Amino acid sequence: MASTVRVDLDGNPIKAMTICMIGAGGFIGSHMCEKLMAETPHKVLAVDVYNDKIKHLLEPSSLPWADRIQFHRINIKNDSRLEGLIKMADLTINLAAICTPADYNTRPLDTIYSNFIDALPVVKYCSENNKRLIHFSTCEVYGKTIGSFLPKDHPLRQDPAYFVLKEDDSPCIFGSIEKQRWSYACAKQLIERLIYAEGAENGLEFTIVRPFNWIGPRMDFIPGIDGPREGVPRVLACFSNNLLRREPLKLVDGGESQRTFIYIKDAIEAVLLMIENPARANGHIFNVGNPNNELTVRQLAEMMTEVYSKVSGEPSLEVPTIDISSKEFYGEGYDDSDKRIPDMTIINKQLGWDPKTSLWDLLESTLTYQHRTYAEAIKQSISKPFAS
Ligand code: NAD
Ligand code: UDP
Repeated sequence: MASTVRVDLDGNPIKAMTICMIGAGGFIGSHMCEKLMAETPHKVLAVDVYNDKIKHLLEPSSLPWADRIQFHRINIKNDSRLEGLIKMADLTINLAAICTPADYNTRPLDTIYSNFIDALPVVKYCSENNKRLIHFSTCEVYGKTIGSFLPKDHPLRQDPAYFVLKEDDSPCIFGSIEKQRWSYACAKQLIERLIYAEGAENGLEFTIVRPFNWIGPRMDFIPGIDGPREGVPRVLACFSNNLLRREPLKLVDGGESQRTFIYIKDAIEAVLLMIENPARANGHIFNVGNPNNELTVRQLAEMMTEVYSKVSGEPSLEVPTIDISSKEFYGEGYDDSDKRIPDMTIINKQLGWDPKTSLWDLLESTLTYQHRTYAEAIKQSISKPFAS
């Protein structure tokens, strides 16, 4: 089969590169590895403590990309092999993090160490060895919107200047130190500032990604099936778990917070453009989200209930949701981002990228996956409650 030469956004041929991907075994990493294996000639040194979500890419050895992906079971907290892998690669992508809100207020030390201290050697090795770095931050560095401090019925709350989040303009507004929810956002902000400073003072070639609620198959875990029974994953997996078990979906503090959700496959397209267009991506911080897919958490619960009923063929519950306080659900020290709309000007100008998938479509494909993957296992666990 004749292979076509792949070109970047400026028409230059793309050379095959080696990528050290830290956190490759997670939700985003697994989708990124899939895309790189299926559509590019690049090689991946996949670093993680787990590999369940990329097993299908690692075995059997007859897979067409078998010689382009290697798994390294490494905990970056304490493993001297990390620097060697970064040196072998042209580009490092750092995804490793504790990034589930239930941990931010209950395990603030682990959260800060994971998101700041553990990322320090990665930045240092990239800077010292003149290697390019794509670092995963979060939309949460914006914290709360300016508009959230206005009275509920104030007309300026409708003015985009008071809520749209811009990489080079919006302030980062966190709650008090007692609100340990912000330990994650604050650690991510400081590592962003450090990377930015390494760029300014030492010439580090970097790109920072701020994901806005990327969702899709393989996100987190279903409690009691492929994760701890008492664990609290992010909202997609919490609501999927409730739907699979035919329990009401729990709306924290009434489900009034607003989010924009983007389909993982759209978001991965944006990351691939960053990987393959360094001249356009270096030195930039990019929001990656879908401003058109905004809704409240309550509306998300309603839409997921409707979509799940369609894909599973099961009728919805008579009472599909219940309210729960954040203190009861997450414990002391929880706080929330009120609204997250990404400004898309910079990513659009630099990479010409726009998200495509509607909320309904992304929920339909994701919940079809959840149903196929977990419905049988949930039925069995319900019929044998004491089996491990
Ligand atoms: P994830 O938890 O699925 O993936 C993170 C991976 O990092 C896991 O596989 C984990 O085992 C690995 N990891 C953590 N600590 C490690 C260590 N010390 N050594 C080796 N591996 C380690 O999360 P994700 O959703 O794929 O997120 C990836 C990145 O994107 C994170 O930095 C997160 O903060 C950021 N992010 C994601 C979203 C989103 O919408 N999914 C939103 C905001 C930010
Ligand atoms: N949430 C909820 N019920 C759940 C899980 C989450 O109401 O079972 C809410 C949570 O309080 C937050 C939103 O859903 O307002 C999104 O939560 P997620 O865990 O996905 O992370 P976040 O977007 O806050 O980073």
